[in-house]
Amino acid sequence: MNDNLPTDYNQIRWNRLLLFAYWFVLLLSIAVEFVYLKMEQQDAGRFIGLFMVRPSLLLAAVILLAEAGVRFLPRHHDYILISASTLIAVVLIVFNPDETYLLFAFFFPIMVSTFYFQLQKLFYAFANSSISFTALCLFDQDLLHAVTPGSIAGFVSMFVLFSAVAAGVLLRGRELTAHLSASFEANRELLVRTIRMDRLSKTDALTDTYNHMAFHEFLDRLVEQGNLNGTGLHLALLDIDRFKSVNDTYGHQAGDNVIRRIGSIVRSKIGAHDVAARYGGEEFALLFIDQTFQEAYDRIEEIRQSVEGLPHEALLMQSVTVSAGLATYTSGQGKEAFFRQAEWALGEAKRQGRNRTVFASADKQERSGSA
Ligand code: GH3
Ligand code: MG
Ligand code: MG
Repeated sequence: MNDNLPTDYNQIRWNRLLLFAYWFVLLLSIAVEFVYLKMEQQDAGRFIGLFMVRPSLLLAAVILLAEAGVRFLPRHHDYILISASTLIAVVLIVFNPDETYLLFAFFFPIMVSTFYFQLQKLFYAFANSSISFTALCLFDQDLLHAVTPGSIAGFVSMFVLFSAVAAGVLLRGRELTAHLSASFEANRELLVRTIRMDRLSKTDALTDTYNHMAFHEFLDRLVEQGNLNGTGLHLALLDIDRFKSVNDTYGHQAGDNVIRRIGSIVRSKIGAHDVAARYGGEEFALLFIDQTFQEAYDRIEEIRQSVEGLPHEALLMQSVTVSAGLATYTSGQGKEAFFRQAEWALGEAKRQGRNRTVFASADKQERSGSA
């Protein structure tokens, strides 16, 4: 069984409650003695002194000691509170030797020990009560006169039985706690796996950028926002130049290697709030959020120049180039038109000779369409 179960959880609050219970026992004992005083015709002064003041003072001293112990020796709070409950039982029994039913006060430490869900605390309580009971039987003459051997045997068997049940309750509690924490662990693992799967389903494995589908989800959401408050939203489409001939010359695997390295350039150059996706085989789509046109343009140019300056071992130290088309979202434009605009700009970059960035505004695209 797992011994690291959080049995200390909320312990300070429960210690407080236990100490409250101890004070309540004190009040209860005074109340019961008061009933005795009323029922039996006794010398009130003597009775109050003997059965109310003396035990109550002793009980109060025990509880105050327990209060101090819990406060100043907080690491031993459990043993202090169990010992205090034993002392309370002893005081109650010693001052009322004729009321043999009070022997059952020795069950009190056993009950208190179950609050800690640890067998060693239960054993400690069991030892406390057994030793105190034996000592009282040996040395308390008044008690000895009041009980018969039969009632002692009865009490001892009840006490052992009761302690065994307490141990059972405790073991069952620990079993349940272990089961709970195991299912909690399993749930957490499942959550982590779900998050990882979610991420995997949105990511392109080769470049570790978003995939086509995730990109469209982002674009849908951003266009909605763009319609609302017109934040600066820019879309860039990047396409590797003459990549077919790279594949044809150096092989598909060399081509994949180049795509991966360009992906890592793209990832390293974009801002924390930008979105980069591998949109197609050798195409990337980038979304720049809340940025000015100049900032977006500079980023793309930086990427283009880095790609141009990066030699690839797989291509015998040659580099490749990319062309880029950049578009700025105009409020109310809609996703399709926005995307077409960037595509047109990319096509224009290719037509103008590749390895360049072309910007298209909404009206420029219209002009090209009419040309
Ligand atoms: P340009 O874009 O400059 O007009 O010329 P291109 O040769 O790059 O254009 P095109 O779109 O005709 O060809 C793209 C090529 O990219 C086709 C294919 O061989 C290659 N390609 C697409 N996806 C992958 C991929 O995942 N891995 C590899 N190695 N090659 C790919
Ligand atoms: Mg292409
Ligand atoms: Mg290409």
